[in-house]
Amino acid sequence: MKIVLLGAPGAGKGTQCKNIVDEYGLMHLSSGDILRRNRADGTELGKKAQSYMDAGDLVPDGIIIEMMSEAIKKAPPEGFILDGFPRTVNQAVALDGSLGEDGAIDAVLNLEIDDSVVEARMTGRRSCPQCGAVYHIENLKPKVEGLCDHDGAKLVQRPDDTPEVVLNRLDTYHRQTEPLVDYYRKNSTVFDIKADRNPDEVKAYVSKELQTLVK
Ligand code: AMP
Repeated sequence: MKIVLLGAPGAGKGTQCKNIVDEYGLMHLSSGDILRRNRADGTELGKKAQSYMDAGDLVPDGIIIEMMSEAIKKAPPEGFILDGFPRTVNQAVALDGSLGEDGAIDAVLNLEIDDSVVEARMTGRRSCPQCGAVYHIENLKPKVEGLCDHDGAKLVQRPDDTPEVVLNRLDTYHRQTEPLVDYYRKNSTVFDIKADRNPDEVKAYVSKELQTLVK
């Protein structure tokens, strides 16, 4: 199964991907995670992406398309779920081209959420620089304020979760990524999912929709 997950930053794409991966054995391919790993490892790709990411702008299509084509080649036969890619119509066209007719995307999950909910979610998000665990200053507090429950590391705010950058990321999403929903409606099955509910409700809904494809 090949799935594309669309939704504004902070809509809960990462959480839903984890559920789908656990249920269907798909490979989770997150362009944001791959970029962050490259930055942490100090690769050329990571250095090129850095300034765009910190400003909340998109990394140029050419860099992303090459990076994701390589990642997709390593996916298992069960398939993959794309999280954060494609993010522009150019990227979607390149993806379709590289998959060919037999490999077309089976479903697009479109997580819908209001900007105000996203702003509160993202600016309150804190994460552990060591193990990657994610918390929220109001909705998912660590046991000891500011410290990771798992390893005691000091929690940090991602540079791109600060209020100014979040506003730019949302603006970028509406201008460059939202048009993809209509792009995919023309040729693929698109499931619209209200993502402002709690993650378990969203998970149950996503699961129900995906079952219709498996049958
Ligand atoms: P994410 O974790 O998916 O929100 O991605 C974090 C940042 O990585 C984004 O704000 C962009 O700067 C960059 N990025 C991730 N995926 C893409 C993509 N498909 N195209 C361009 N830039 C991307």
